[in-house]
Amino acid sequence: MNIFKNLFDRCGDAVVIVNEQAGLTYANPSAWGLLGDPVMMLTATPGQAQGALWKKQQGRLIEQPRSLLQTVLAHQPGLSQDFLLQRSPAATWLAVTSQAFHLPSLDFHGWLLLMHEVSQSPDSSDSHSSLASRDVLTSLINRTILMERIQQALHQSPQTQQSGIAILCVDITRLKAINDTFGYLAGDRLLVEIVHRLSNSLRPTDTIARLGGDEFIVLVEDIATEAAAIAIAEALHAQMVSPFVINGCEINIGLNIGISLSHSQSLDADTLLRQADRAMAETKQHFGERHRIFAGELTATTEDALHLEMSLKQAIENGELYLEYQPMVLVRTQEIVGMESLVRWRHPEQGVLAPGQFIGIAERTGLIIPLGWWVLEESCRQLKAWQETIPQAQNLFVSVNMSSQQFAQPDVLDRIKAILQRTRLSPEFLKIEMTESVLIDNSESIIEILAAIRDLGIRLSVDDFGTGYSSLSYLHRFPVDTLKIDRSFLENADSDYEKLEILQSVVRLAWNLGLEVVAEGIETQKHLAQVQALRCESGQGFLFSPPLDQSAMAAILRSRSTAS
Ligand code: C2E
Ligand code: MG
Ligand code: MG
Repeated sequence: MNIFKNLFDRCGDAVVIVNEQAGLTYANPSAWGLLGDPVMMLTATPGQAQGALWKKQQGRLIEQPRSLLQTVLAHQPGLSQDFLLQRSPAATWLAVTSQAFHLPSLDFHGWLLLMHEVSQSPDSSDSHSSLASRDVLTSLINRTILMERIQQALHQSPQTQQSGIAILCVDITRLKAINDTFGYLAGDRLLVEIVHRLSNSLRPTDTIARLGGDEFIVLVEDIATEAAAIAIAEALHAQMVSPFVINGCEINIGLNIGISLSHSQSLDADTLLRQADRAMAETKQHFGERHRIFAGELTATTEDALHLEMSLKQAIENGELYLEYQPMVLVRTQEIVGMESLVRWRHPEQGVLAPGQFIGIAERTGLIIPLGWWVLEESCRQLKAWQETIPQAQNLFVSVNMSSQQFAQPDVLDRIKAILQRTRLSPEFLKIEMTESVLIDNSESIIEILAAIRDLGIRLSVDDFGTGYSSLSYLHRFPVDTLKIDRSFLENADSDYEKLEILQSVVRLAWNLGLEVVAEGIETQKHLAQVQALRCESGQGFLFSPPLDQSAMAAILRSRSTAS
């Protein structure tokens, strides 16, 4: 089936689709790789199969009285189950998630099975820690483990004029454009391929980590000179010379590389990483420059940024931040169901600044953490106040953006609980928005945190969906309620037919996975028609209302209450 082929052929997870009669409709190449013969593996009982699948229950392996397929389909949908695939000479653990779904346009009822290998028994603490520390897509280590490795490296070898460590911050150009053009499944595939090539030019002792969508860090230990660090950057560039092939098209990828060196300076891991990042940002501003070593000198832009950084610190303390609220509506009736809170900064000299002008700085400096918690508390406080004074605000929710750095804090759950307690807002009226980078950065360890937040009764949204690097098969592992489709999809939907088609399939499957789909950036009647055709139930955008300050929002809510 073409639609499944388009969506899942290049997916790293094993994806199997069976019809209502439990007949195999589709298995992607990963499924063939993982299971051997999927039909055989799914339908055979242990006695029949050359290999056998065993299910784990209450800590013990039980012999399968039925086939994997029967067992999975009899189970509660959406829950992940663990199986042991016994095949001589080795055994593999599989995590299997099943979900019933229906594609009305094809009149197809079936089951989606998503499987991936778990390195050891799912109970083993060892496997947990190895998964928690890795990015699901590329299997590279994440920020936490990288920081430990850098610290270790700094500690182990003497930092002298002749010897130290180098950090290379590697940014991949055009990945977003490629995602926009070819879809994020192709983007995922490309990323894996890029990582493969980057690894080719590194030594086994070098470390490579993925920090965000298109940003990688290489740690090189025991490096003698700047020239040696540049040689490594050149080797990375050389790996990108031959084009990548996506959907039959040849694509050239470039790198921007920023380098920092520890030599004879007493720098900590955090500073080295920040220096490499800053050097990388500077190469981007100088067209044609491929890499740069952090030199410490300040350019005009970094000076501006530093200035803003200093005043942002004070802004939080001086109460210069405030929130605007953008109504979120039911597309069919245009009835307001909630609102997204969006931060603004009333800068004493520069006037009102939009988040685009300072969220980046806040993220780089860690100021996003106090800023983010202030936004959450203020949003909850304001909604509670409206609920108490405006009858029609009683059932509205507020949707609040949270940064991945907040999710990485060990006490994230306690902080959320404390804010709900202080503001007395009932958790059912709170939604938390996060970008796909939250899922990528924190990898599997985030699942428990998200599940705990949801257990409190709070709903979770993935913001700007489609601009990052997750695919649906990756998303199903995370306990989220809503996908907010990025507005770039609406902007280009007219001209980019392939994108619209992929979007349609994703929306349908998301639906069948029980996710709500929200459209952002509905500006025109045409957008609205597109959103309706996609069967998104709710959305936000200038067509309904721009973000409003507190008093304008209150006025809208009041007029709504008198009208009904
Ligand atoms: P977002 O979360 O995707 O928020 C939606 C953005 O789209 C808002 O921009 C909103 O004003 C804008 N928008 C809404 N409707 C339309 C439309 O019809 N057309 C167009 N072209 N734009 C529309 P804003 O307020 O500038 O925020 C930009 C981004 O800054 C947000 O994107 C979010 O990622 C970030 N941000 C805003 N407030 C916070 C915050 O409190 N914490 C964090 N961590 N990030 C925030
Ligand atoms: Mg948002
Ligand atoms: Mg968004």
